[in-house]
Amino acid sequence: MDTSYIINEFAEERENYFNAVSPPIMQTSNFVFNKVDDMRKAFVDEYSTYLYSRGKNPTVDILRKKLAALDGAEDCLVFNSGAAAIFASVFANVKAGDHIVSVDKPYTWAQKMFNDILPRFGVTTTYIDGRQIENFERAILPNTAVIYLESPNSWDYAIQDLPAVVELAKAENIVTIIDNSYCTPLYQKPIEMGIDLSMQTATKYIGGHSDALGGVLSGGKAMIEKIFNSEYLNIGSGISPFNAWLLIRGLRTLPARLDRITASTKKVVAYLKGHPKVESILFPFDESFPQFELAKKQMKGACGLMTFVIKANNIQQIETFCESLEHIFMAVSWGGHESLIIPKCSGIQPGEFDASNKEHRMIRLYVGLEEPEYLVKDLQQAFEKM
Ligand SMILES: *Cc1c(COP(=O)(O)O)cnc(C)c1O
Repeated sequence: MDTSYIINEFAEERENYFNAVSPPIMQTSNFVFNKVDDMRKAFVDEYSTYLYSRGKNPTVDILRKKLAALDGAEDCLVFNSGAAAIFASVFANVKAGDHIVSVDKPYTWAQKMFNDILPRFGVTTTYIDGRQIENFERAILPNTAVIYLESPNSWDYAIQDLPAVVELAKAENIVTIIDNSYCTPLYQKPIEMGIDLSMQTATKYIGGHSDALGGVLSGGKAMIEKIFNSEYLNIGSGISPFNAWLLIRGLRTLPARLDRITASTKKVVAYLKGHPKVESILFPFDESFPQFELAKKQMKGACGLMTFVIKANNIQQIETFCESLEHIFMAVSWGGHESLIIPKCSGIQPGEFDASNKEHRMIRLYVGLEEPEYLVKDLQQAFEKM
């Protein structure tokens, strides 16, 4: 299926709603039955029936079909946040006594789940540097049930060789889950590489306008049906029809936005690399990136998010730089229209700052939809004020 077809036409039944170009928001909690037997069937198989919008909803279904098709997956579920999708994907695949192998430094809330919640149920996690396949081999135990990946990572962009991990996991009957938020299915298709469950936050690039949260979990029908009937319905963390509609709207412009951001990011990366106050830059599609070859091999693109190490002798200089930006906002998240920064030193107390520690001088920059020259000018004047 062509990406353009998926985004503009697929799964929309316009003849059923007055040939409207934009689909209706089915803002309903429940659905009416005329026959007892139809209701009985719905109770038995909620996965295929409109019964109650905590389960299936027609607006959400349009989004599900489009997102699953983009991922090359049989089905997907859309949650009300990426964190909810991560939680359901892991919870559905572990039981007491199981073990998980996770890449180190996964997304904050994945890490909190592994460290704080799962141990209460007797599920333990081993973190590894996922850049070397041997580290997976060494960490796998007889009770390993899940391998959790994030490629690239959204701070240091560490990448895992996905086909190699899949080969290892399949031989041991281990479920593979990936956080594919950085690439979206336009730039990386983990399901086609054999990964069992591909998760992405829809809050970032899919929505694209910083106005709705969502999370996507794609996989085989049996796996998705299993998660629908347990975690999805039980936690009640499905996306609302209105937010699903916003995400359908966001999807329409996803390829155009990624093209634009890719082109702008190249210019901003080039500017930063040449700046005397920048010590180094981390961006998967830059030749200086240690895993550049692997990035090129399994990703179609990289855009928007990068991290640079700023030259500073004290925390004040970094704070002055960040606070001097006039157009680039300081805020969490990314993937929207607006450019953003987060300094790593916002996550530590000022007294802990150590200028010799490169990590403390890291700044993550997200390039949005503004003119690249406008962003460069803003960065330039902030560097001058340091
Ligand atoms: C934002 C983010 C998430 C979580 O998504 P939410 O929609 O905010 O819950 C997960 N992984 C990565 C890499 C993210 O950047």
